[in-house]
Amino acid sequence: MYDLIIIGGGPIGLACGIEAGKAGLKYLILEKGALCNSIYNYPINMTFFSTSDRLEMAGIPFMSVGAKPTRTEALEYYRRIYFHFKLKVNLYEPVDSLKKENEHFEIKTSKSTYSTRKLVLATGFFDLPNLMGVPGEDLLKVLHYYKEPWPFIGQKILVVGGANSAVDAALECWRKGAEVSMVLLGDEVDENVKYWVRPDIMNRIKEGSIRAFTQSKVKEIKPQEVIISTPLGETSIANDWVLAMTGYKPNFSLLDQLGVKMSLDEKRQPCYDQTNQESNVPGVYLAGVVCGGLNTREFFIENSIAHAEAIVKDIVSKSN
Ligand SMILES: Cc1cc2nc3c(=O)[nH]c(=O)nc-3n(C[C@H](O)[C@H](O)[C@H](O)COP(=O)(O)OP(=O)(O)OC[C@H]3O[C@@H](n4cnc5c(N)ncnc54)[C@H](O)[C@@H]3O)c2cc1C
Repeated sequence: MYDLIIIGGGPIGLACGIEAGKAGLKYLILEKGALCNSIYNYPINMTFFSTSDRLEMAGIPFMSVGAKPTRTEALEYYRRIYFHFKLKVNLYEPVDSLKKENEHFEIKTSKSTYSTRKLVLATGFFDLPNLMGVPGEDLLKVLHYYKEPWPFIGQKILVVGGANSAVDAALECWRKGAEVSMVLLGDEVDENVKYWVRPDIMNRIKEGSIRAFTQSKVKEIKPQEVIISTPLGETSIANDWVLAMTGYKPNFSLLDQLGVKMSLDEKRQPCYDQTNQESNVPGVYLAGVVCGGLNTREFFIENSIAHAEAIVKDIVSKSN
């Protein structure tokens, strides 16, 4: 019987493990992939928008060459955190199902079954892409995760979306010699694109290096072309790859299985007490970006690290 099981070995799951260890709780982190699996799957050359000092946890300095760390530097930081605190993490062990049994929870993973008194869901939002829902989206040339520009050298690519991931992918691929078009819902890329990147993409669009279809949507994807609905009517462009950078959403299945309620508006924000992160199901706590529901911009690492301390403090106070 564990005191606490934490589902998700991302930055916030690790922060919960650190606090649980400090409080002397018998805890375990269950992670379905590699350590910090979401960050591992981010674009290889990605730079965080946060400065490294704002990502620090448990007083451990986070050093990066520039003010804002790269993905590689962040992974190295979390690797050091993992070993420094001797965190108890079972990697490559997805949680398949869970349920409340009287005063404890039973968790079934791909490898075993566990019992715990308290549970933290820190499962993030990076596992399910927002689909466009258009014919041809299932073609192998349509990618929802972008890693690096190399496969797209000399290729005609269409980047769908106007947020940070889309802009980073478009610029990086264009600089390596891809022919890049973008489909934007609005008149221009999103306002909250990283402030040091936004002028770059705006200027590349203005000079015609990257072609942008504004106020437009993808209508259909075919093996060698894409049909786009524009304000001037439908147009077809030649295409080798579609990078659908349309965002991601949390997987709500574990929350649903436990009976965690969601708000009824379009945010589908899980119900929890903001003072201690406990959900409407006693003993089930929420931590990290999953707390925002479909509003995936509300929480990020910077403003979620505090969840860990609040949760463990609450667990300890209730067990005294
Ligand atoms: C491209 C990009 C750039 C970003 N830049 C910044 C930034 O600069 N600053 C900032 O503060 N935030 C940033 N964010 C947001 C931040 O990275 C995420 O908010 C952060 O990863 C959230 O941490 P988390 O621990 O809540 O979730 P995650 O890091 O997503 O961790 C959740 C973990 O749960 C695991 N998991 C999911 N389901 C299961 C299951 N059933 N069983 C077991 N394990 C499971 C996943 O594999 C994953 O490892 C960025 C996000 C993206 C996509």
